[in-house]
Amino acid sequence: MAGIYIHIPFCKQRCNYCAFYSTTLYNIKEEYVNALCKELLMRKDYVAGDVISTIYFGGGTPSTLTIEQLERVCSTIYSTYPIAENPEVTIECNPDDLTPEYLERLKELPFNRISMGVQSFNNIQLKRLGRRHTAEGAHLAVANARAAGYNNISIDLMFALPDSTLLEWQHDLESAIALKPDHLSAYNLMYEEGTPLYRALQRGDFNELGEDENVKQFGILIEAMKGAGYRHYEISNFALPGKESRHNSSYWNDTPYIGCGAAAHSYNGTSREWNIADIKTYIEGINGEKRNFEIEHLTEEERYNDTILTRLRTADGIPLIWMKDKFSDKLNAYMLRAAEKEIALGNLKEENGHLSLTEKGIFISDAVIRELIYV
Ligand code: SF4
Repeated sequence: MAGIYIHIPFCKQRCNYCAFYSTTLYNIKEEYVNALCKELLMRKDYVAGDVISTIYFGGGTPSTLTIEQLERVCSTIYSTYPIAENPEVTIECNPDDLTPEYLERLKELPFNRISMGVQSFNNIQLKRLGRRHTAEGAHLAVANARAAGYNNISIDLMFALPDSTLLEWQHDLESAIALKPDHLSAYNLMYEEGTPLYRALQRGDFNELGEDENVKQFGILIEAMKGAGYRHYEISNFALPGKESRHNSSYWNDTPYIGCGAAAHSYNGTSREWNIADIKTYIEGINGEKRNFEIEHLTEEERYNDTILTRLRTADGIPLIWMKDKFSDKLNAYMLRAAEKEIALGNLKEENGHLSLTEKGIFISDAVIRELIYV
């Protein structure tokens, strides 16, 4: 099995916290879609022999494409790659784009999962973050998507927002849960250097929350989501039974994937590749049959570290027999030695042949993971 990731880098406006590769150059959307389709054809052998079980349109904002543009990319995928039965096909959307008309036409395409960047239900915070939708817009978008027949909806939230209180975060979570999303991802807001939000923080326009407040908000998140029946299956992800993101899960299950589009990453089990993060150079390269990308061949130690980094974030953790199969005795011994100390400290547990974080360890996951990283 393999996955396809399609990067759509267009955004109507840049959010104040965003450090991802995206562009507001709308006039080259058509050229970009042509290049994307060409890249999909050029690289059809990248995951040769593997059936595609998940397809993910991420961004940027994929819902800024017209239905015709999305249709062209989808039909190129379906006519070029072997697609499994019942694949998971996700599209990331901005709530403002999800009008009944757009959703009705989107339903004609293979998308069966919608991932919505909501981030907050507080209009003051949304404005500060530079989001183009409001809390009311997010409520409406979910209602529209349900009415259009989507039964797999994920929403993204951010916690530890500037000057936010525990009560405000609780309100955000209650609003999210009231919408009954099938899946919820929640990320800690990061102040990335060079972003307008970072500069505002430097100017002293607001306060960054301290570590204690961060941890408290994370704790409230876990309690609220579990209480509402969601499984905490990865540090930042919660799902109703059976609604775990299959595409994201494939990243930590070592499944190969091909990523097409500017700044998209690919992985084939032994190397990682990433396309240039510049839309014009990307298009020029593809049009000239010369893709602009970089490649990194992974050593066994790097693959081991990637596995620790991704797998330990999951509730299922690291299956020890699988590890033995994949990595040398040296690395397995290294992992078990480091794990022993963390088990003694109550941060890790070994259950049913799996090594995973305890409820205590989840709160200091970065530090625990660091201990198992091979240096
Ligand atoms: S919509 Fe997403 S990718 Fe676009 S600017 Fe905002 S955070 Fe960045």
